[in-house]
Amino acid sequence: MTQVDFHDIHAETPVFEEVAAQYREFTAAWDAAADADARLAVLERWDALRRELETWEAWVGLRFQQATQDEARKAAREVRDEMLPKLQELEIDLVKHLVGSTHKAEIAAHFGAHLLDLWACKTASYDPSIEEEVVAESKASAAYTELVSSASFEFKGETLNLSQLAKYAQDADRDTRYEAARLKWDWFAANAEALDALFDELVQLRRRQAEKLGYPSYVELAYRKLGRTDYDREDVARYRRAVRDHVVPLAGQLRARQREALGVDKLMAWDHAVLDPQGSPRPVGDHDWMLARARTMFDEMGESLGRFFGLMADGNFLDLKAREGKAGGGFCTSFPTRGMPFIFANFNGTKGDVEVFTHEVGHAFQNWSSRDKESVDYMWPTYEAAEVHSMSLEFLTWPHMEKFFGDDAERFRRVHLTDSLTFLPYGVAVDHFQHLVFENPSATPADRLEMWQEMRRTYLPLEDWGDLARPSAGGLWQGQGHIYKSPFYYIDYTLAQVCALQFLGLAKDDPQRALDTYVTLCRRGGEAPFQDLVRSAGLRSPFDDGCLEDVVRTASESLGL
Ligand code: ZN
Repeated sequence: MTQVDFHDIHAETPVFEEVAAQYREFTAAWDAAADADARLAVLERWDALRRELETWEAWVGLRFQQATQDEARKAAREVRDEMLPKLQELEIDLVKHLVGSTHKAEIAAHFGAHLLDLWACKTASYDPSIEEEVVAESKASAAYTELVSSASFEFKGETLNLSQLAKYAQDADRDTRYEAARLKWDWFAANAEALDALFDELVQLRRRQAEKLGYPSYVELAYRKLGRTDYDREDVARYRRAVRDHVVPLAGQLRARQREALGVDKLMAWDHAVLDPQGSPRPVGDHDWMLARARTMFDEMGESLGRFFGLMADGNFLDLKAREGKAGGGFCTSFPTRGMPFIFANFNGTKGDVEVFTHEVGHAFQNWSSRDKESVDYMWPTYEAAEVHSMSLEFLTWPHMEKFFGDDAERFRRVHLTDSLTFLPYGVAVDHFQHLVFENPSATPADRLEMWQEMRRTYLPLEDWGDLARPSAGGLWQGQGHIYKSPFYYIDYTLAQVCALQFLGLAKDDPQRALDTYVTLCRRGGEAPFQDLVRSAGLRSPFDDGCLEDVVRTASESLGL
């Protein structure tokens, strides 16, 4: 593999008419092909075009996130956003043509049946009749991002945005944590009307898409959009009940222990991120230092990970420093024509830097490992499977945490594992809430506050927001961007966590086998649905009876419960 440099990647905006002409040609060539080999050659050419278009899509999106104030980059992103639904229509028309042809069986024989299942989800979740709603939906979710990014706070002599303010949630000083929480939730209270109006709009746009496509509610459409082919909402509901029965009581025990360690009479919501009076452990060096440590760590983790990380670091495929004008958050994207992913993050000096970094390297390593898949549809798996790669690498890097945290490494591991368990009830609460919201699209903003209160009683019974009016009244969900921007993508993190915790157990027994299994799983990319992938790695599916119970028992035993 030769070294590619990010700065050498440039993607021209495609000319829509030229792309449309290529699609017409693919359709004609498929029909005229003399045999299966000739038809396969058409699919190969189509795949090459899709890799180019996806590289352009990713490059334009990333360049905008790297400098959100740059007018040229913003304009390029707008051109892209307007063209994307039209490109999707071309793709869906061709898929329908292929699936409707007499040679459909050749596709399954060559690529595996999963590709046809993914295509079926694609065609069942889009039709030109919903284009208007789809474009309006992306505008309304962008408006949420803009509104939330505009929040600005004067705190401790600095001007901070929400993600910068977030570091104070982990501060050792309780008053500081409370003040930071108060500032944040006062802002959400002051903007409640605008946030409600945006969400009303999103609910109606999603309801209309579902109606036009003939679904009883948006829930069914969302499952299709997410490509969920091997489980349904009944499985998810059963899994949420298992979390309620087996994890909620355990979270209660962990919170009780935390209260004692902090020496407070009553544990409040702003105490949750801190396990002991020292506050959260922090990496003991800056960005460049952490990068050097990461290089050593991945080299020690084997040839594949070491070589991969070298390519990323030497080729400038990492942008990890926070700076003015750069969008918040962390993510991984990829350039399929070059076979290289890219990691975007905003280091702020907390333990989260290490967590986000190892998480995103997990996504990136999987994508890179799957770069030669014959269909670009297999380069990423569906989200719940993708989060297994990222969340498992967070655990598989545990033996190396001394490199980042020094004497605090053991404390870091304990916080990480505790957070992983207490996250599960919150994660299913977010999921259950969305089912309630989209099953009842005529609910008012006040009804939705009551829905979230019901979720709190069920999954988060000990959470106390004291005199912070908005979260006390059930408004906390408005701070969870996924509910606005990526509906129903949240249970995925909890499903993946249950798999990642199994990797942690495996690594304790046999570290080398755990790493080998991980690398093999990453190479499979998205060639199979979630539960197949998980089982092929020797893990149990979170939907299997007893799985969740066993996994959390093992994890809580290692925390001394
Ligand atoms: Zn992730």
